Amino acid sequence: MDGATRLTMRYPWDTPPGRAEAIEVAEGVLWMRLPLPMKLDHVNVYALDEGDSWTIIDTGFGSETTREIWGELMAGPLKGKPVSRVIVTHHHPDHIGLAGWFQSVHGAELVTTRTAWLFARMLTLDVQETLPAETLAYYRGAGMDPEILAERAAERPFNFADMVAPLPLGYSRIKQGDSIHIGGREWDVHIGNGHAPEHATFWSRDDNLVLSGDQILSTISPNIGVHATEPLADPLEDWLEACERLSKLARHDQLALGGHKLPFVGLPLRMRQLIDNHHGALRRMLDHLDTPKAASECFAPLFKRRIGKGEYGLALVEAVAHVNHLYHTGEVTRTLREDGAWLYQRKG
Ligand SMILES: [Zn+2]
Ligand SMILES: [Zn+2]
Repeated sequence: MDGATRLTMRYPWDTPPGRAEAIEVAEGVLWMRLPLPMKLDHVNVYALDEGDSWTIIDTGFGSETTREIWGELMAGPLKGKPVSRVIVTHHHPDHIGLAGWFQSVHGAELVTTRTAWLFARMLTLDVQETLPAETLAYYRGAGMDPEILAERAAERPFNFADMVAPLPLGYSRIKQGDSIHIGGREWDVHIGNGHAPEHATFWSRDDNLVLSGDQILSTISPNIGVHATEPLADPLEDWLEACERLSKLARHDQLALGGHKLPFVGLPLRMRQLIDNHHGALRRMLDHLDTPKAASECFAPLFKRRIGKGEYGLALVEAVAHVNHLYHTGEVTRTLREDGAWLYQRKG
């Protein structure tokens, strides 16, 4: 094979599993899907056969619907064997949502990174009835559309605890460089960053499987966002560092099992794309910032398509990630507009 034919992507299954169904993607490895009530309408979860029990990778939202479907899965494809261990790739609600439920109701062990656990536990305990002043200031700083800002300020904000079951005290930590035995295979733990801090990925030493969470997805670019918790963060720098590092592990024969969309073969090409997409976006942003603009005025060069209301929030936090990166690399300056929005402009 020459270089050109090797740099392709292939999707071994074109149809995902339906409700409470599982597809065996490798010996003892089941791929399942749970619904999400959002534009991105599903999350992939996996179960690995431990003989007398299962280890599951990620859990879906902490909702009644998801608990119901897990009940059907456990009685169906999981053949009534218990879930003894939950491994969570990162702290987002669609992944950690039912981890606490598996711990407290099913007696499962929770395994995840320290940052994922601390972040999730902190956020589940931090219930807000109205939008905190810091979040309002952050949105204003990003130049959020005043109408959307007024709407958000008037309603009860989304709370992490709305979609994540309470996390009891205690978990088992995994970190960069660890190896872990799951489903009859030994896996190297490699930590990603940028989409979520300290995001775990698992690379099988015994066959071609990679459990990649949301760090590596097939047909959508993982959201890289800045939030009010750390308004000056540069997650794009973390993303690029992690992707460059993980791309060195990528092989042409590996099957990547991600948190959304379809499993795929072709990691070397996908890693390149996940890096290059952002370099391209940064170049277009820099051209666009020949005159001062707020992060909210950078959707066109960043996404090259119209952003609807349903994706406005994710688009805004990703736009801030890109202007923050340019600000930290010293390529743009920023000044505060009267209304509290930061305006970014290319230097020189
Ligand atoms: Zn995520
Ligand atoms: Zn996700």
